[in-house]
Amino acid sequence: MTEEKGLNFIEEIVEEDLKEKKYLQIITRFPPEPNGYLHIGHASSICLNFGLTQKYGGYTNLRFDDTNPVTEETEYVESIKNDVKWLGFEWGNELYASDYFDTLYEYAIKLIKKGLAYVDDSTSEEIAALKGTPTEPGKNSPYRNRSVEENLDLFERMKNGEFADGSKTLRAKIDMAHTNMLMRDPVLYRIKHAHHHRTGDKWCIYPMYDFAHGQSDSIETVTHSICTLEFVPHRELYDWLIEKLEIYPSKQYEFARRNLTYTITSKRKLLQLVNDKYVDGWDDPRMTTISGLRRRGFTPESIRDFCDRIGVAKRENIVDIGLLEHCLREHLNKVALRRMVVLDPVKLVITNYPAGQTEEVYSENNPEAENNGGTRAIPFSNELWIEREDFMEVPAKKWFRLAPGAMVRLKSAYIIKCEDFAKDENGNITEIMCTYIPESKSGNDTSGIHVKGTIHWVSIRHAAKAEVRLYDRLFKVENPAAEEDDFLSYINPNSLKVIKTAYIEPSLKTAQPGAQFQFIRKGYFTLDKYSTPENLVFNRSVTLKDTWAKESKK
Ligand code: ATP
Ligand code: MG
Repeated sequence: MTEEKGLNFIEEIVEEDLKEKKYLQIITRFPPEPNGYLHIGHASSICLNFGLTQKYGGYTNLRFDDTNPVTEETEYVESIKNDVKWLGFEWGNELYASDYFDTLYEYAIKLIKKGLAYVDDSTSEEIAALKGTPTEPGKNSPYRNRSVEENLDLFERMKNGEFADGSKTLRAKIDMAHTNMLMRDPVLYRIKHAHHHRTGDKWCIYPMYDFAHGQSDSIETVTHSICTLEFVPHRELYDWLIEKLEIYPSKQYEFARRNLTYTITSKRKLLQLVNDKYVDGWDDPRMTTISGLRRRGFTPESIRDFCDRIGVAKRENIVDIGLLEHCLREHLNKVALRRMVVLDPVKLVITNYPAGQTEEVYSENNPEAENNGGTRAIPFSNELWIEREDFMEVPAKKWFRLAPGAMVRLKSAYIIKCEDFAKDENGNITEIMCTYIPESKSGNDTSGIHVKGTIHWVSIRHAAKAEVRLYDRLFKVENPAAEEDDFLSYINPNSLKVIKTAYIEPSLKTAQPGAQFQFIRKGYFTLDKYSTPENLVFNRSVTLKDTWAKESKK
């Protein structure tokens, strides 16, 4: 983008802090819970956290928030690392909250010794019953006044596995009448006899989010701990714990979660789509996971550009997915190689061109490329595939493509004139017969004939077959997440159209995964990651124009 953008509110805070020399360098962290694949909402957080330290100097840690042993898996850890790297960011350190379990345990003992934490034998229902409401104070637990010695003994025995899940918790001793409900003696540790993906069976007590997150920030001397708005009420507890533990004073800042129209940005719901087989895995090209977007043909540049443009907000809102697609179109326009592919083939024969003869014509790879994309040779012969929709038996008004007696240019080749056509018994066109004008070859046209239409084609003898997948939005409504349980009923049943027999120009036979193409007049495409040389599969990344914007204006 050319226009100069103002600072976002977090950059303003950072610049102020640097001006006051509060910090020598900025340290942020991106703290995913490894319980699913990253999605476009996470990309926004990644760009913000890594963007700050790139801009102001310092580094960003990748910290796996793996304090809940039940939902976490190593597969997710690997995918998250891969996605952050692919987006173009390098982390300072790869860290795991579970690496701090020993330190956190020591911190808990410190609080107990200060008389600021106690072991509670109440069940979670009993704790909830005494919690009060936002307008009414809570009541003290009957276990609140245990002695430090008794608390130390019980907490150690909790750790040693003497008690059953849910039978005891460690709670901070703050104020049961506090106006902030989270400050009413929050639970710090719970008993869970569960296997952890990294610490195995070493622990059967696990710290709660509030007793892990801020402490991990502090251990890493994170200067700016950025999270989403739902953590605003947690900030008071975040600061209280850091103060009482007398550890490095990291500071928490909140920004609004990013949601996108026609998509889901919740790992739990995305997991449901995968498990219930609505999609073909986490990296299904219709998923707005980073891996799905990558397989669909999105580029890291386009995703970063999108995150940049939506910026950082203080209030929840929903961003038009059309903007993400627009960012992709803009980038691909500059980098995608132009190729000719016929998706719905009908045969065209040039009756005055010698059968069996082949000549090469040259076509530009990308006229929009920064340093001239060069040209490639394409074989031309007397039998071609063209798009069925480029011929009309009875032409409509202002029809500039093929029709009986009409002339068009074959892209990068000759002007042809339609002389005749054949139909089968059902009335389908089976063959179009044309003549060509030998003097009209592109680049050396001395024919003096001007035509308004240009159509793409491939030579039948030289073309290869490929499968082409056309994707549409996975959901029919703008905000499928609005209805908590009902989001599955908004799934678009026509989100995938498979074309089994498309014909591609020969240069595409050796297409490599990750390469971006513009199939002329058809959209932007990329090779699917599961494509093989024997069975080529291309995914449509995005259409050439925003067809949805047009529809909604009708
Ligand atoms: P989910 O509900 O999808 O599991 P989460 O917030 O629980 O989301 P985490 O793995 O805990 O997911 O998130 C890691 C980081 O990414 C957090 O700092 C979180 O605030 C941020 N994040 C997650 N979703 C979004 C979103 N939609 N927009 C912006 N930031 C997000
Ligand atoms: Mg979470």
